[in-house]
Amino acid sequence: SLQKDVSATELKDEKGFKGHSMLAPFTAGWQTTDLHPLVIDKSEGSYVYDINGKKYLDSLAGLWCNPLGGNEPRLVAAATAQLNKLPFYHSFWNRTTKPALDLAKEVRDMFTATEIEKVFFTNSGSEANDTQVKLVWYYNNALGRPNKKKFIARAKSYHGSTLISASLSGLPPLHLQFDLPAPFVLHTDCPHYWRYHLPGETEEEFSTRLANNLENLILKEGPETVAAFIAEPVMGAGGVIPPPATYFEKIQAVVRKYDILFIADEVICAFGRLGTMFGCDKYNIKPDLVSVAKALSSGYMPIGAVLVSPEVSDVIHSQSNKLGIFSHGFTYSGHPVSCAVSLEALKIYKERNILEQVNSISPRFQDGLKAFSSSPIIGEIRGTGLILGTEFTDNKSPNDPFPSEWGIGAYFGAQCQKNGMLVRVAGDNILMSPPFIISSDEVDELISKYGKALKATE
Ligand code: PLP
Repeated sequence: SLQKDVSATELKDEKGFKGHSMLAPFTAGWQTTDLHPLVIDKSEGSYVYDINGKKYLDSLAGLWCNPLGGNEPRLVAAATAQLNKLPFYHSFWNRTTKPALDLAKEVRDMFTATEIEKVFFTNSGSEANDTQVKLVWYYNNALGRPNKKKFIARAKSYHGSTLISASLSGLPPLHLQFDLPAPFVLHTDCPHYWRYHLPGETEEEFSTRLANNLENLILKEGPETVAAFIAEPVMGAGGVIPPPATYFEKIQAVVRKYDILFIADEVICAFGRLGTMFGCDKYNIKPDLVSVAKALSSGYMPIGAVLVSPEVSDVIHSQSNKLGIFSHGFTYSGHPVSCAVSLEALKIYKERNILEQVNSISPRFQDGLKAFSSSPIIGEIRGTGLILGTEFTDNKSPNDPFPSEWGIGAYFGAQCQKNGMLVRVAGDNILMSPPFIISSDEVDELISKYGKALKATE
């Protein structure tokens, strides 16, 4: 088993406790107790180094969040300048800071798929999606529709790991031991054409069927009880799943018909990853609310944001005398250092024409990796821009998974790591989203390391 392959000396600390002292996020018990964790010590461009000096090509850009790579001096300078001037002040009770005000305006103006009026800052994507729920509930309470509270999300989506954002997520491990999802959350189909289409069904027909299923779910629940629909433009952690043809057009028509708000979770897609500034631009999505995080600061500081349309913001402003203020926020909402770094990141994206950079390098990345599609252990390779997923299955069929105890995905990931590349393993899916600064030579290195790991896995 993989556990034996990598059996390292058992870690015991001076108190005799197993493993290190951190209860690590999304980490299996045997990994924390029996293994030395991979300790990353330093980053440089598209690479990170572990504590022993071993170099890895970071094919996931941290956690999909670091488009400018590991050592962008302008971001370090922006953080340092802000730390020297004003390391902290909050944004409660009509007090705030200039970086927070400037960033809100900048983010508002960058999003052009629909009009955005206000930006609410959080520390993460999960907090952004929790905030969405509270905004939508406040909005419907303000409109005198207290029963319009349900959310519809999609199977295999990932919206975060707080109680509410985990409820919205459509991944069973986020629910099973936590008594989730919360009862106001419903899940509709995952739009994965390869896995779920019926024999002979085209992508367009598949999208029509999914839109019909969504409409039937809304009608079954009662449209007067359904408040919002939330979707990632390209699903990330669920396996990198771009939408099938005409999907968002048809889904949006259904959502509009029943006066249901559309929330775009752009936490992975925003700021260039798909080759457009936002995923909404790519798929012609006209959302009422948007969540962003990750690339907003190029991952250098924790920050997320909720973008609010005039329709929602007007109701909240006009009704707050009646209902009381929108009593929600975090000590670090609009943290000045996070905002200063984000302002600099957005400036760099524009100055360096990050979209051109993504669009010029992504065909090499996509075509180079998709060339491995004929491997007998690969079911599907899918992606767009600088995001790509590989799914291992037997017989090229979505219905023939390898036995989970074989740990094919984990084995492939371990091979990559041995050869100096880090990938995201999600069951038998391998997920990649390299930094935008990745060079042609580095893309070639990524492809070659992928090929080597694949050969060893076959
Ligand atoms: N939404 C999406 C689409 C994500 O991919 C993630 C994280 O990967 C989140 C929300 C949660 O963000 P965070 O981990 O910053 O809470």
